[in-house]
Amino acid sequence: MSWAASERYRVRQAPAGLALVQELINTRAIKKYAPDLLADQEAAERWLTGAAGEWARIHGLDSPDCALSPSDPRELRDLRESFERLITKAPAAGTDPGVGATPRPDAGATSRLLSDRGVAVRLAPDEQGQVRLLPVGRGLGWLESALWSETLLAQRAGTWPRLKICRNGECGSAFYDTSRNNSGVWHDVRICGNAANLRASRQRKRIRAAAEAAPDSDGNGNGGGKDEGASAD
Ligand SMILES: [Zn+2]
Repeated sequence: MSWAASERYRVRQAPAGLALVQELINTRAIKKYAPDLLADQEAAERWLTGAAGEWARIHGLDSPDCALSPSDPRELRDLRESFERLITKAPAAGTDPGVGATPRPDAGATSRLLSDRGVAVRLAPDEQGQVRLLPVGRGLGWLESALWSETLLAQRAGTWPRLKICRNGECGSAFYDTSRNNSGVWHDVRICGNAANLRASRQRKRIRAAAEAAPDSDGNGNGGGKDEGASAD
């Protein structure tokens, strides 16, 4: 039992059960490297069995029944997209993105907002009056129940805003930001942050080179133009 999807990215794990939300998001395919863990029924069931088992182990509970129906992987991918939107604060499909919104480029138009449907959970007070929030159901239903329970607990505990999606669009991994002022945007600044800074630097150089070349460029091609690549790193 482990957080198999998040471990593929080697990301900082969210504390306790919140890692389940992170784990769902990290099932997404990593470009040219690893497949979508929710691609089909067999893969999705294997992932859910591992993730639900890890969640149950952390909470000292029995693992739920993780059997899925043939249509469940599609639902799971929609659920994943809903949580991605929630975390990036991207608008739901069909709504105005608004100023400053940064939706993921691959966010499709099929996602539905789960808040419209409601999710069941069980309140389980112990003899000391300590109340636990327990997911109910099995398979996809259990996962929804567990995800929203963990979301509620994280929102109450103040840890929810630290669950983020890496700003590098080619990465898109969900990570837990442990920076003091919660200002992190990369899952790993050495991997995704430096690559982005390098791209931005090259882009600036290209723009500068194009601007410098522009006064000479309206001739009929004199062969003496600047080579754009000459000024690269
Ligand atoms: Zn990243």
